[in-house]
Amino acid sequence: MPAPPRPRKRLGQHFLIDPNIVRKILKVAALRPEDVVFEIGPGRGALTQVLCERVSRVIAVEIDRHLVEYLAQTCAQHGALELHHGDALAFPYDTLPGGTIVIANLPYYVSTPLVFRLLEERDRIDRMVLMLQREVADRMVAEPGSRDYGLLSVVTQYHTKPRKAFVVPASCFRPVPQVDSAVVCLAGRAGRNPVDDRFDEVFMKVVRGAFAHRRKTLINSCREEGWDEPAIRRALERTRIDPRRRAETLTVREFIALAHTVRQA
Ligand code: SAM
Repeated sequence: MPAPPRPRKRLGQHFLIDPNIVRKILKVAALRPEDVVFEIGPGRGALTQVLCERVSRVIAVEIDRHLVEYLAQTCAQHGALELHHGDALAFPYDTLPGGTIVIANLPYYVSTPLVFRLLEERDRIDRMVLMLQREVADRMVAEPGSRDYGLLSVVTQYHTKPRKAFVVPASCFRPVPQVDSAVVCLAGRAGRNPVDDRFDEVFMKVVRGAFAHRRKTLINSCREEGWDEPAIRRALERTRIDPRRRAETLTVREFIALAHTVRQA
């Protein structure tokens, strides 16, 4: 067995060393042998090894060339593994088969952009089981009106049903990170309308505009983002949303209603 390459903090390399956490992640994922798993950042293979024993196909993308070489030697016996060297943000997601399950212990430095990228690709993803900083997980599941509720909560809850499964103490990783982590399961929204890119675009514009200036009222925040004030005022009136409210008090349903009205205007 070759010696593993030394960790590079710059790439968010905090490797999972607790097999119990691997077992708990697999339990949340509820995999079947015929499933296809996409893993971001396999690292030294703590999850990858076990995933390869459970499912028929594991597609993994790792940015660190040294780790790709290490994994190619240590996990090579698994016919299930398809290893890619590259940045997960630039991965060709259209090559993933429909119904893929994403499982990842995400690198902290890029976890939010990766979540947004994965949500964009949700039509070919059945569900995601992600390990992230605890604080990011809390934001994903936050309720309107709470301190953690923001853009990430609205976008995650619009596209998926997020559930915080369990907390993972920093001591379960090497090197030990400065913060605890948590595992979230983002299940697909059964019965949701098919992906409508044009509506999603309007929805994102509305939500980004509303949260751009968190401390300001909806109307002021959107105006500062260059929106036409009479138009946004009319849309708020039609959806019966008080323009003096702040974005953090709006439910996902209210954002959807507002986006529909803005789209029709
Ligand atoms: N899965 C392993 C584990 O649980 O022990 C490693 C997890 S570690 C938190 C994150 C991994 O993601 C590292 O191996 C790192 O090199 C890799 N990584 C960092 N940025 C990446 C990116 N943009 N695309 C793909 N992999 C990345």
